[in-house]
Amino acid sequence: MNLILLGPPGAGKGTQAKIIEQERGLVQLSTGDMLRAAVAAGTEIGKKAKAVMEAGELVSDDIVIGIISDRIDEPDVQGGFILDGFPRTVAQAEALDKLLAEKGKKLDLVIEMKVEDEPLIKRITGRFTCAKCGEGYHDEFKKPAVEGVCDKCGGTEFKRRADDNEETVRSRLEAYHAQTAPLVDYYAGKGILKSVDGMAPIDEVTNQIRAVLDSV
Ligand code: ADP
Ligand code: ADP
Ligand code: ZN
Repeated sequence: MNLILLGPPGAGKGTQAKIIEQERGLVQLSTGDMLRAAVAAGTEIGKKAKAVMEAGELVSDDIVIGIISDRIDEPDVQGGFILDGFPRTVAQAEALDKLLAEKGKKLDLVIEMKVEDEPLIKRITGRFTCAKCGEGYHDEFKKPAVEGVCDKCGGTEFKRRADDNEETVRSRLEAYHAQTAPLVDYYAGKGILKSVDGMAPIDEVTNQIRAVLDSV
C-alpha cells in the first residue's frame, strides 16, 4: 500500500508514520528528513535548501520531486511507502501522479490529520529527537520514560531542529495554508482522502489511522 500523511507542521505525521511503518511493513519517506540529511552532508541540494528551510519557506518543487522520484525506485520501498511532508504543493501532487504512473505504481490513500493552528506552536517548540536513533519526543506530550534516556535505543543525546522556533513555525503554517491545504480538495476529488482527528492523544490518533488502513 502507498499512502500520504497530510497535515501541517506538528500535526504528528512523523510520529504516526514511524508507528505505521513498523506495524505494516511500509517505508516512511520524509522529504524534510532527506533535506536535513543533505544540509548536514553539505551537498549541492543541501546548500540550496539550507536558508530556505531556516526561513520556514518551501524548497523548490524541482528539488523535492527529484529526491522523491529517485527514492521511490530503491528496492526497500517496493513493498509500499508512507509519504510524510510530500507533496506540499499542487505542482508536487501532479508530478507525483505522473511519476507513479510512469513507474507503474499508484496511490491508495491520503490520510488528512486535522488539527488547529495554535496548539501546533507548542507541539513544535517542545519537539526533540534522539540523536542516535531518531525517535521523536516532546517536552510535555511524549517524554522519555527515564529522563535523558531514549526509550528505544538507550541513547543519551538529543537534538532540536533549527527551524523549530516560534517565528519560523508561523511562516511554515502560513506556507501550509497557502500552498499545501489545497491538496485536501485535490485528493478528495480523486476519492482517496480520509481524515483523522490529529488533536486527539497520540495513541488515539494511531487507532484512528489503523481503522482507516483496515477499511481500504
Ligand atoms: P514538518 O514535519 O515540521 O512539517 P518537515 O520536516 O516536513 O517539517 O519540513 C521541514 C522543511 O523542509 C520545510 O519547512 C521546507 O522548508 C522543507 N521541505 C520539506 N518537504 C518539502 C516539500 N515537499 N516541498 C518543499 N519544501 C519541503
Ligand atoms: P510532524 O511530523 O507532522 O511535523 P511530529 O510527529 O514531529 O509532527 O510531532 C510534533 C511534536 O508533537 C512531537 O514532539 C510529537 O512528540 C508531538 N505529538 C505528535 N502527535 C501528538 C499528539 N497527537 N498529541 C500531542 N503531541 C503530539
Ligand atoms: Zn534513540
